[in-house]
Amino acid sequence: MPVRITIVGCSGSFPGPDGPASCYLVEAEGFRMLMDMGSGGLGAVQHYTGLYDIDAICLSHLHADHCLDVCGYSVARTFHPDGPKPRIPVYGPAQTGVRLGRALAADPAADDPGADTTDRITEAFDFVTVTAGTIEIGPLRMTAERMNHPVETYGYRLEHAGRSLAYSADTGQTEALVRLARDADVLLCEASFVEPGGGSATALPQNLHLTARQAAEHATRAGAGQLVLTHLVPWNDRDQSLDQAGRAFGGPLSLATPGLGFVLD
Ligand SMILES: [Zn+2]
Repeated sequence: MPVRITIVGCSGSFPGPDGPASCYLVEAEGFRMLMDMGSGGLGAVQHYTGLYDIDAICLSHLHADHCLDVCGYSVARTFHPDGPKPRIPVYGPAQTGVRLGRALAADPAADDPGADTTDRITEAFDFVTVTAGTIEIGPLRMTAERMNHPVETYGYRLEHAGRSLAYSADTGQTEALVRLARDADVLLCEASFVEPGGGSATALPQNLHLTARQAAEHATRAGAGQLVLTHLVPWNDRDQSLDQAGRAFGGPLSLATPGLGFVLD
C-alpha cells in the first residue's frame, strides 16, 4: 500500500514562470489530500487528479503563497452547474476559515464576511483547527509540530504502512523540525535562502526561512533517508541550492520540481 507524493507547486513565496507556489498532492489507498494550496496550485493540481477527487486539504500556515487558492477552490465546489459538492475538511491553524473567508469576501470591510451567502466559504469546507500532536486523516497518521516562522505554522509528518514523509512548511532553524523528521524516509524541506557567495548565513533574516545548507543540516541530524529541497524562490540559483545542501547531507538529495512524483513503499 504505497503512498504517492506529487509536487504540484514548489515555488517559494510567489509563483515562478514554470510553477505554482506550495502545493503537494498525497495519495494513499485512494485517499487524496493536498498539503498547502498556494497561488497556482488549483490549476496545476488538475493535471494529477480530478478537481473533485480531493478528500482533504491541510494547510501549514496562512501566508498567501500557502493557502490562497483555497478561495478559488471554494467557488469551484460551491457553484458547480450540477450543484454544490460535499464539504471536505480543511485542516489549518487557528482562524483559517476566517482568514480565507475574508480573502474571498466581496466586501472585505464587512464585520462578518462569512455572512454574505455568495462568499460563504464554509459552504465548501469544514475547517478543522490544527494543534501540535497526532491525528488520523483518512488512512494517514499526521503529526503536527510548530515551526519557527513569524505566524502560527505547522510542519507535518505523514505516516502510512511503516513509511513516513516529513514536510517542513516554512521555518527558520528549529529542533522541532529535527524531531518531526526523525528517521523519516523523505524530508521535504524548505530552502528559501542561499548562502551569500563565500559568506555565512548570519547576515540573513533569522527565524524565518532556511538556507539549503541549513535544510541539509536538519536532515542529517534527523537521520532522514532522503532530502527534497522545496519552497525554492524564483530569484535563486537552483544549482547553487543543490550544491550548498550537498555539503551537509550525504544521502539522496534532489530539488522539487512541478510534476515530480515519488512513492513511499
Ligand atoms: Zn510563510
